[in-house]
Amino acid sequence: MKNLLITGGSGFIGSHLCLILLKNNYSLYVLDSFINSSYEALNRVKALAKFDKKNIDNNLKVFVGDMRDKKTIDNVFRFAYENNKRIDGVIHLASLKSVKESIEKPIDYWGNNIISTLNLVEIMIKYNCFNIVFSSSASIYQKDQKFVNEESFINPLHPYAETKVIIEKLLKSIFNAYQGKWKIVNLRYFNPIGAHSSGQLGEDPKGDPNNIFPRIIKVASGEIKKLYIFGNDWPTRDGSGIRDYIHVMDLAEGHLKALEYLNLIEPKILNINLGTGIGTTVIELVRVFEKVNNVKIPIAYEKRRNGDVSELVADISLAKSLINFFPSRSIQDMCKDGWKWYLNNPEGYENN
Ligand code: NAD
Ligand code: UDP
Repeated sequence: MKNLLITGGSGFIGSHLCLILLKNNYSLYVLDSFINSSYEALNRVKALAKFDKKNIDNNLKVFVGDMRDKKTIDNVFRFAYENNKRIDGVIHLASLKSVKESIEKPIDYWGNNIISTLNLVEIMIKYNCFNIVFSSSASIYQKDQKFVNEESFINPLHPYAETKVIIEKLLKSIFNAYQGKWKIVNLRYFNPIGAHSSGQLGEDPKGDPNNIFPRIIKVASGEIKKLYIFGNDWPTRDGSGIRDYIHVMDLAEGHLKALEYLNLIEPKILNINLGTGIGTTVIELVRVFEKVNNVKIPIAYEKRRNGDVSELVADISLAKSLINFFPSRSIQDMCKDGWKWYLNNPEGYENN
């Protein structure tokens, strides 16, 4: 597998992933509607890859389009076919991803995430492409478990997570229907934060972000006055919630490992957790951020957020043993790189 379609490749995770893949000599077709991202992210990816002396001009082709339109996907596959660089694998990141928005606008979420994937799979079959890595999420797991492995109970609590579960099921049924053809990996991401260490790539959420890391950045930058911590009465070491934060570059490298693994095996479907296996409380995250960046993050406590859990940390034994995944970046690195990205790009990508 060398010629890949990366759906959603200009987004937060996709942009970091594209850089890593280019550096590893993959040839990429990126398809994105830019509903939640900016073209500038891909300009930065190109610049960083070139800086690394990679000749990427022939290795990155960008298509703008919405995957709910089947023709858009067909065009990319046809282009690749006609240019003798057939797509032999897909990394499917394109998705709407806000939990809150998915509750408020379920039709958008079901429509976007499911129809895009159905179209994608149909076109993949048309072009005899049977390799896919899908961006799933730890949010699908039942919420009263601490260390979750891939066999832990699944119980999604909102439309966003439900779309991930349904897509995993869709992929399973396709795997079953085409015996001996598909190689499918559902990567279940935990909490990706941080940014590329150059400060050139990072998370640039549109609208008002609800996740902890962008909120911390907003407080550190003075855009909002206080960080509201949802609950100080959880049964954890300091009363705040515990999550498994993973550096976005480690997460991106996990995809490379998954691809290398897929290249070695016979058709198969599997689920793999991508986290670090280390739990960090909200307060610990805030304190590390303050310390490594020499900033102040005023905090206040709020009541627990609806649907939150005290602790969600990955068991990454399978990722370690199967795909040789050993994330190496610390919480300090995540906080340092995320803040550097903000300082270099206080307006995100927009002012470029
Ligand atoms: P992102 O919003 O930054 O990237 C998603 C990209 O998909 C965006 O560039 C968006 O424009 C594009 N897109 C959305 N719908 C599209 C469509 N119909 N057609 C074409 N392009 C479309 O999100 P991200 O954080 O980079 O997440 C990437 C994937 O990882 C998503 O599937 C997300 O659900 C999953 N995930 C993310 C997290 C996280 O915390 N960031 C955690 C678990 C799973
Ligand atoms: N959190 C918080 N304040 C915020 C946003 C999040 O205290 O403004 C907490 C939240 O309760 C959870 C952790 O930070 O314990 C991670 O939340 P996030 O929304 O980033 O990820 P998820 O809940 O999906 O794991």
